[in-house]
Amino acid sequence: HELTADGLIQPHVGKGTIVSPAQTVQHFLNRLSNLDHSEVFGMPVQPISWQNFYTSQSERMHNPVLASILDEIGEEDQISFALGSPAGEYYPLNELNEICKEVMRPGNWKALEYGPTIGHYPLRQYLADWLSYRGINAQAQTILMTSGSQQGLDLLTKVFLEPGDYIVMEEPSFLGAIGVFKAAGAHILTIPLDEEGLRIDVLEQILSRHRPKFIYTLPTFQNPTGTTMSLGRRHELLRLAYQYHVPIVEDDPYSELYYENQPLPSLKSLDEHAHVIYLGTFSKMLFPGLRLGWCAAPLPVLEQLSLAKQHVDLHTSTTTQWIMTEFCNQGLLDKHLPLVRSQYKRQRDAMVTALTEFAPQGLSWTVPAGGYYLWCELPPGLKAATLLTKAAEKKVTFVPGNAFYVNSGGKDRIRLCFCRHSETTIREGIFRLCGAVSELLNQ
Ligand code: PMP
Repeated sequence: HELTADGLIQPHVGKGTIVSPAQTVQHFLNRLSNLDHSEVFGMPVQPISWQNFYTSQSERMHNPVLASILDEIGEEDQISFALGSPAGEYYPLNELNEICKEVMRPGNWKALEYGPTIGHYPLRQYLADWLSYRGINAQAQTILMTSGSQQGLDLLTKVFLEPGDYIVMEEPSFLGAIGVFKAAGAHILTIPLDEEGLRIDVLEQILSRHRPKFIYTLPTFQNPTGTTMSLGRRHELLRLAYQYHVPIVEDDPYSELYYENQPLPSLKSLDEHAHVIYLGTFSKMLFPGLRLGWCAAPLPVLEQLSLAKQHVDLHTSTTTQWIMTEFCNQGLLDKHLPLVRSQYKRQRDAMVTALTEFAPQGLSWTVPAGGYYLWCELPPGLKAATLLTKAAEKKVTFVPGNAFYVNSGGKDRIRLCFCRHSETTIREGIFRLCGAVSELLNQ
């Protein structure tokens, strides 16, 4: 009678009793969720405290700034100078559309299959030639495709770092790298930058006292400062690496985005004794959403990195690698780069012009010769965190400088990305931002 009343069974004269399946399942689910578990086990069951089961590495993974920058993408009315992302309006979507159709042509199931961990051979071959043209001695077998260079960084920590190991990096530096190295439990030794890049004198003092696993550096159009390491410093850095037997990790996402002269040779191209591990990515030149990067490294390191990657994701997406191979082989990367160079240069200049016009006294900024970012110093006494709140009221945002520091520092700095928005929007955003600075100064 109870089941009939709940509509779970329906007696039909001459047909028997029909059970209604969907409602039956729902009925039992409802009952289960209302159950006091002590009824089942005969004892009280506590809710599980997940944090008691986590590794110490999990506890070190907290990177709130990176997460909030990525979350903010969906907010339409906000002008974000925070995210280091290319301008979508320049994506060659018509060409990409044709390429996707070609890759997905009937019968081409290979583009959707598993592939080798090291990556799609034709793409690695293209990259080997592309890098050789830039003075880097690379072959397809010494290039590992990664799911963005962020994954390259993570694989390097898996291969090289035990908790407590020393690494060296310039400060300020890329916040995603700081996060990954901290999560690995590394002791991070920091080197200040000057206008010629990483301070070699400080590095030498550190190397004479510690044995770091590697030196992580962004020599060209550094994130966040825009600094480029001089040629002399590049040679000195390599000399120290050879002298103290320390590998160098060169992170180079921005060198093709130059707005004045051709970039200086990479450390990898100057390296004569196989000490440099080079990270590249399509994210800043093309499309970050495809998640395609690469690592060019000496063969033994590459094999070890491939083993680490096997455990993480087997391989980078076959489909996106096929799409990128077609894109590159059709000459579209080489066609795209001059376009974004000239557009981003105009956007950089638009940001500088707007700052010159609207900035209150005491606000200063760098003018980088390439890359994505302006690095600004706030007027004395003003903190980036305070400005962030005020700027949010005006619907404009940026990354506060302290995110790029390992310990403390950078509280009076902010990073502005000039690549993502049009010149008009940049002008409006800088107007709002400078308005926020002025209001705080006049309080
Ligand atoms: N390295 C640096 C210096 C970066 O600025 C970025 C992106 N902001 C990355 C690595 C990661 O890029 P991706 O994983 O998209 O290739």
